[in-house]
Amino acid sequence: MSGPALLLVEDEDGARRTLAEYLTRRGYDVYEAATAKEAMRLWDAHRADLVLLDLGLPDLDGVDVIRRIRREATTPIIILSARGDERDKIGGLEAGADDYLTKPFATDELNARIRAVLRRAGGPDADAAGCLRLGPIELDQVRREVTVASTPVRLTPREYELLKVLLSNQGRVLTKARLLRAVWGLAYAEESAYLHVYVNRLRRKLSAVSGVSLEGLIETEPGIGYRVADGDWLREVPPSGDA
Ligand code: CA
Repeated sequence: MSGPALLLVEDEDGARRTLAEYLTRRGYDVYEAATAKEAMRLWDAHRADLVLLDLGLPDLDGVDVIRRIRREATTPIIILSARGDERDKIGGLEAGADDYLTKPFATDELNARIRAVLRRAGGPDADAAGCLRLGPIELDQVRREVTVASTPVRLTPREYELLKVLLSNQGRVLTKARLLRAVWGLAYAEESAYLHVYVNRLRRKLSAVSGVSLEGLIETEPGIGYRVADGDWLREVPPSGDA
């Protein structure tokens, strides 16, 4: 029986083979590409369930590969990036990638990220009643109400919109510009100080509900933006954390 199909794009042969072997052992069907051209050929031929993409490729920029895939599909894309390539990472996330890992990374971490984005790709963001949920947090889009462990939380309209965007992107990394555009509009894409203030306020308000630790709900990705926890997050939080 074969598992989800992965398209692994990496021009370093040794690194690619090691990763491919590991992923095959974990039950994935792996297609390997060493160039952007080969990646596009395999993408056209097989339509993998997930793409792992090194941005520094010998022929084309990896970001072009992301754009090409995004024109055709919402297939999850995880960037495999070299340390220090902040601009590239941001460019890749802006072009529609779901997440990134900085090399060198632990294969267990890669596997966890793969499972998270595949899970997200499999299910609708909101249930039939229009509720978004993450752990004890519930956002009712019809009544515009937010509760944590059934206790109502008072949010301003901006805070509510911000939480809505975050809960709609569980398990993803969102760049600052993307969040600003989504919540405040195009004209605010550079105003990352706003975002910082609102994210902190939101963290504080959600965590103020007694007895519920929301440590790790919205993680800061320095220089990039924010990572939203996914459904696995609660299982990783100790039941009586001192957060
Ligand atoms: Ca490379």
